[in-house]
Amino acid sequence: MKNKNYNNMDLEELSEFIESIGEKKFRAKQLFQGIHKNKYYGIDEFTNFSLSLREKLKKHGNIVPSKIYNKLESKLDKTRKYLIELNDGNIIESVYMEYSTHNTICISSQVGCKMGCTFCASTKQKFVRNLEPYELLNQVYTVQKDIGKRISNIVLMGIGEPLDNYDNIIKFIKILSNKDGYNISLRNITLSTCGIVPKIYELAEENLPINMTISLHNPFDNERKKIMPIEKKYNIKEIVDSTKYYFEKTGRRISFEYTLIEGVNDSYKHALELRNIIRGMNCHINLIPLNKIREFNENSSSKDAINKFKNNLEKLGLNATVRKSLGQDISGACGQLRAAHIIK
Ligand code: SF4
Repeated sequence: MKNKNYNNMDLEELSEFIESIGEKKFRAKQLFQGIHKNKYYGIDEFTNFSLSLREKLKKHGNIVPSKIYNKLESKLDKTRKYLIELNDGNIIESVYMEYSTHNTICISSQVGCKMGCTFCASTKQKFVRNLEPYELLNQVYTVQKDIGKRISNIVLMGIGEPLDNYDNIIKFIKILSNKDGYNISLRNITLSTCGIVPKIYELAEENLPINMTISLHNPFDNERKKIMPIEKKYNIKEIVDSTKYYFEKTGRRISFEYTLIEGVNDSYKHALELRNIIRGMNCHINLIPLNKIREFNENSSSKDAINKFKNNLEKLGLNATVRKSLGQDISGACGQLRAAHIIK
């Protein structure tokens, strides 16, 4: 029988497997709980299993771990950036952020990214491969073990485009929210996408009401095209229509991410057009100062310009907040730490 990766299997798959090796079905639930509730990384940790069952499980497969390759801790707040080493030696990035009411992890969905957004460090070292469900889960479990506190919120906003790794992301969310496992609330999961429209419609039908964030960054098609190649495939109207549908089906409020770039997208004209395209929607706008990377020759809007833009949006009737930047002393933008590792 082929070597199984137990932490990549959902409860149904484990049940089928357990029965196929002549064991009772309840063992599958125990295996699932051990991996996803107790975070066991090895079959020998299952002391509730007989020695012979443990040996049998080891013969057929294993639990594949991920390792912490490097960790940076902020001296300004409790943010920690992790470089996580996968079983094949690839490196990804996860970021832990602590707030007064919750602990959040921002995880990667792919090794690299195909989307080519010009301002983003994650895409510069090119796309390598999708992450498997267990590699998504391991980011949460590995960091939780390291900090010794339960992670309550997950944001799929790290390296990669989650909707470009759709099936694995769906399986990950289903396993992580399973009540016999980690049992995270779907309301505490947020997926960020650059706007892969057909997948937004597909996700709306999954009965997985997670939060959705759209990386918008510019309300004009011709300008957005210059910084986000995905715009050539799906324009802003198509993206906004798909998010309206998503809201209708799931009831989850949509957020729009808007990175402010000096003299590029921070004028009153941009605020006005932003209002025009999302008028009447129940949504929120996150304003983000640009995190400068070497390959993108633009600057962040100044603090004053950001506040002015925010005030303009509010006067136009929109909800907007400026995202608080955590961990500023431990290498800024998402993907930069991995990039520094690859090109050093
Ligand atoms: S912003 Fe997101 S979608 Fe765009 S290149 Fe970076 S990781 Fe990929």
